[in-house]
This record gives sequence, C-alpha cells and structure tokens, in this order.
Amino acid sequence: MAKHTVTLIPGDGIGIETTAAMQRVVEALGADIEWETAEAGAHMVESCGTPLPDSTIEAVRRNKVAIKGPVTTPVGTGFRSVNVALRQSLNLNVCLRPVEAMQGAGGRYTDVDIVIVRENSEDLYAGIEFEEGSESAKRLIQFCADEGAGTIRPDSGISIKPISITATQNIVRYAFEYALKHGRKKVTAVHKANIMKYSDGLFLRVAREVAKEYEGRVEFDDNIVDAFCMNLVIDPSRFDVIVFPNLYGDIASDLSAGLVGGLGIAPGANIGPEYAVFEAVHGSAPDIAGKNLCNPTAEILSAAMMLDHLGELELAAKLREAVRRVYAEGEVLTQDIRKATGSDKPAATCTEFTDELIRVLNQL
Ligand code: ATP
Repeated sequence: MAKHTVTLIPGDGIGIETTAAMQRVVEALGADIEWETAEAGAHMVESCGTPLPDSTIEAVRRNKVAIKGPVTTPVGTGFRSVNVALRQSLNLNVCLRPVEAMQGAGGRYTDVDIVIVRENSEDLYAGIEFEEGSESAKRLIQFCADEGAGTIRPDSGISIKPISITATQNIVRYAFEYALKHGRKKVTAVHKANIMKYSDGLFLRVAREVAKEYEGRVEFDDNIVDAFCMNLVIDPSRFDVIVFPNLYGDIASDLSAGLVGGLGIAPGANIGPEYAVFEAVHGSAPDIAGKNLCNPTAEILSAAMMLDHLGELELAAKLREAVRRVYAEGEVLTQDIRKATGSDKPAATCTEFTDELIRVLNQL
C-alpha cells in the first residue's frame, strides 16, 4: 500500500495538461503516492448534471488531501463558483499563496519572498447577493432606509460583505502560526478599515488583538489596501507574511504573481482543520487549453506545497530545486515565460518543459 493516497482532480481546460504534468513529475521524484482521480468542472454537467459531484467531495473527505487543476463554472448550474462551493463544503477556510521571485521567470523584482494568507469563507465571496429589481432587493433597500443606515438607489444590485470575529481570529492566528513555523519575522494585515468600519474595522481590531498573543515573537503591522498595492510594487521586500480578508487577498494574489513572472508559476493551497486542497492560482485558460502550450509550473509547485503538508519535506525541497534550475538555465521554458522575459528563444511545449524538469530531477 502506498504511503499517501491523494485525490487528484484534473478539472477543466489547461488543468488536464497541468495536472498530468504534475503527476509525471511527482512520480519521477519517487513520492510514494497513490492517486485517486475524481472529476469536477464544466465537462461533468452532461453526465452528472452538476459540475461538482458529491462523489468528488466524498473522495477528498476520504483521503483528506487533494490536488486539483482549475475548474470552470458553467452558467445555469446553480453554482456561482465550483471552487467557492468546494472550499465551503470542506471548510477550507485558509487560502495560502507563497510568492517567491525565481531567476529566469521574467519577474520585474528579484527580492520578492512573501506569503499571502487569504481568508477563504466570507467577505464579498459569501455569495449573499440581491438582484437588481428583485423583491428581496427592494425589501433590503427599504430596511436600510428605515434603519437610517443610508440611501441605496432603487436600481441597485447588492452584495453583502460579512466579516466575523471567528473567521478573522482563525485566519490571523493561522498567519502568525505560519510565521512562527517557517521562521518568518512579520505579519501585515491588509484592510480598508477607515471606510468599512464594521467589516474591515472589525478585521483590523481582531488582527491587533491576536497580534498581542505573538508580541516579541513575530512583528505586526497593517496597511490600508490601496497603500498596500502601492507599497508592494515600490518595494515588495518590505513584506513577509500578509493576511487579507477574502477579496483583497484574491486581487493581491494575482498582483503578486505578476511581480514574479505571472500566473504560470504561482502555486496555492486551500487548507481547513480537516482537509487540504492544493491548486495553482490560475484559471482554466480556455484560450490555450488542449494545445500543449500551458506552463505546468504553478501546479507542480502546488504539489511541492502538498508534499510539505504530507511531511515529505526533502522531496518538496528537491522538487523546488529542480524547478529553480530549469528556470535559471533558461533553455526549456514555456511561451508565457518567453513573453514575460522578452526572450526570442523558442518556447517549449508543456510536455517538453516537463521532460526537462524530470531530466534535471534525475540529476539531483
Ligand atoms: P478562468 O475563467 O478559469 O478563471 P481565465 O482564462 O479567465 O480562466 P486564467 O486562466 O487565470 O483566467 O488566466 C488568464 C490568462 O493567463 C489565460 O487566458 C492564459 O493566457 C494565461 N495563463 C494562465 N495560466 C497559465 C498557465 N499555466 N500557462 C500559460 N498561460 C497561462
């Protein structure tokens, strides 16, 4: 019996190619993993009537660890987002996205080494929305007027932004514990507390309270989200672990990926008290799907995070080292990286890049 059983969800679009590449690389690494494949995505609607079959959620529950490709949410299937539904049903309340500059990846900065810790369950992603013109929207608008809370134009659609003490304590504690465990010095909380006093204001207040528990061990500061964006692009080296409410964390993830070479190299994980699902930051990229053009690095680095989670620290380190070498050598890289670096060397296919990575792995 294999040491670990992992649920593999290939997903849609380039997910089919990136997860296949990841699987080849992890097998070449010699990790003792048995894969149990489960399906999710637009392609499941015809056969199952849903993009997220219960059997897929069950498979993650059974194995506790999953790695997935991006999943497209088709319209009209009752899901706003399959990814959000998966996170909610498995209580994956932490989204973890390390962003590190890598030589040869085409980033504009060499000194980025940050960890994004994004709250995954609430904020504007809670999915509590009222359609413009609906009876519920009208009642809510009336309620706000009656409460003296403010005037909302009658032709408005409304999304609710809940931020709770419970979820904020949980995410900020996770950020501090992560900092301690990984020898990091500082946690920065990002918010817009000066404008949204009862949601982001609560986030900041709770973050400050939790920070006191770590005084003398991990530094703490905070940034207003707009200033944060400017500070990040001026000097990313001033940040270390950064904790966000859901929406700002989502935006900051892509912004940060852009600093180091783009979505092709940005890994991530969704982690809860019981289960963990690893996945690249990027989406299904339908424009390049099925053409062997995609960059599987983000999925492969997500697998390195998964190996860390499984306690296979040496294998994870070896995998990261092989990726670093392939980029530093710069001979076999995919088209997104060629564009990011402005190189006129020929672009490798996803398969050629994967072959090269396995070749380098075998030399380590
Ligand atoms: P989705 O609707 O699933 O979010 P999307 O195409 O809107 O998909 P992304 O897939 O996140 O959004 O990425 C936007 C673009 O970035 C893609 O269209 C593609 O050109 C490029 N891209 C994203 N990921 C990769 C990758 N792994 N390799 C190469 N290019 C990528």
